[in-house]
Amino acid sequence: MTVVSALRGPRPTGRSMPDRVHHRALALATRAVVEPVLGARYLSRAAEIDRWWRLSDADREEWRAVALESILRYGIDQVPAYGHRDPVLTDFAITDKQDIIAEPEQYLSTEHASIPVVEKHTGGSTGDPWNYPLDRRAWAESYAAQILAFARHGIAYGDRRLLLGFPASLGLQGMGPAKRLRLLAERTDVSLSGFEVDPETSLRRAQLAATMKARLWYGYASTIAAMASAVLNAGQRLPGPDLIVTMAEPLMPAWHDDIAAAFGTKVVEEYGCNDGGIMAHRCDSGNLHLADHQSLVEVVDEQGRACPPGVDGAVVITNFHARHMPFIRYRVGDIGTFGPNPCPCRQPGRTLARVSGRSGDFVRLPDGTELTPPTFYNPFNQATGVRRWQIVQPDPTHLVVRIETRDGWDDDDRSLIMNWIEQQTRHQLIVELRETEPFELTRGGKHRIIIREF
Ligand SMILES: [Zn+2]
Repeated sequence: MTVVSALRGPRPTGRSMPDRVHHRALALATRAVVEPVLGARYLSRAAEIDRWWRLSDADREEWRAVALESILRYGIDQVPAYGHRDPVLTDFAITDKQDIIAEPEQYLSTEHASIPVVEKHTGGSTGDPWNYPLDRRAWAESYAAQILAFARHGIAYGDRRLLLGFPASLGLQGMGPAKRLRLLAERTDVSLSGFEVDPETSLRRAQLAATMKARLWYGYASTIAAMASAVLNAGQRLPGPDLIVTMAEPLMPAWHDDIAAAFGTKVVEEYGCNDGGIMAHRCDSGNLHLADHQSLVEVVDEQGRACPPGVDGAVVITNFHARHMPFIRYRVGDIGTFGPNPCPCRQPGRTLARVSGRSGDFVRLPDGTELTPPTFYNPFNQATGVRRWQIVQPDPTHLVVRIETRDGWDDDDRSLIMNWIEQQTRHQLIVELRETEPFELTRGGKHRIIIREF
């Protein structure tokens, strides 16, 4: 199925007649009624963006340059925090969530009252929740990018979707009637949301999910990995959907393998933040493809200078579409590294090679050196017996490494990990490996890679 046909409504392959009728009716109703009422052209934008990606590289770059200048000028003219400067990106200071929380009115457009928004919240992973207004146009752009990414894998808009492991606030309880109606029309099922990832609950969740005939499972990486691991440990193999997309947390390699083995399904990792506005999906060559029509992404060092590909830095976003509260050089709090452009997979556009946890999550050595999550990836990815890991620094001189093991875990894995960590921490910390200690999740239910307790 081509991307365009997936957006219009799928071709007959694998779809029943009622399915095809549903898809066409949904697409028509969405464009004719839902989009005007919501003030968000997400499905129409998905089709436009599909055509946008077929433009030449030069034409897309020109479009981006115009979009960037437009939002910078808008910021200068309409947003107090950005006034009195030239429309040159690097003249704008990098801001973050804390800056906006401190002086929210400084970051709102003077005409914000007339620009429709959806109320969003974020911050469960860092323990500092933030409610903020997200421009409906910016929301639509993000949702359109996602619809298009799913369509590339043959999932049509209106195909049955199952959401897994979402916080209760995103479940039906916390939703208005309009969103409920939209999810119902989109055939999105949230019945299997929830945080419990113990083996028993996870196995039950997987067995129920397998009976639900969804074409797409979309949810927390840790939740779906726990389902997969429970299925494999029970010696089972369950029929999965056509596609599994994991979100909210980095997809560890062992998780990817478990999910693919347990459900026999293609697994794609999504990276996205609504604040700022970023959406990316990992391709078969292993890179996260950014939605270049949505925002300009920078990776910068501590002095705000651009990091070359392969060097980790803070992910900073300028959203082309948000006007109510523009996000200009907004630091989302993740550490990332640019990947190749063009990517070997031949899909056009910019890529990130990897993104890791929040930039606040780092190990601090007694000499003041701070080590970010990517410092520690290597041995855990190489070890054969690691399902999950987490590093806790309880005080300035100790480091606890929690490991959830699987078949293949042995002394070689142990020494591989210990040697790497002792070398990276320059023998300044007392490192202890614990194989049975429970993991801590964030308040938002996400898996954290590094926890520093002081
Ligand atoms: Zn690629």
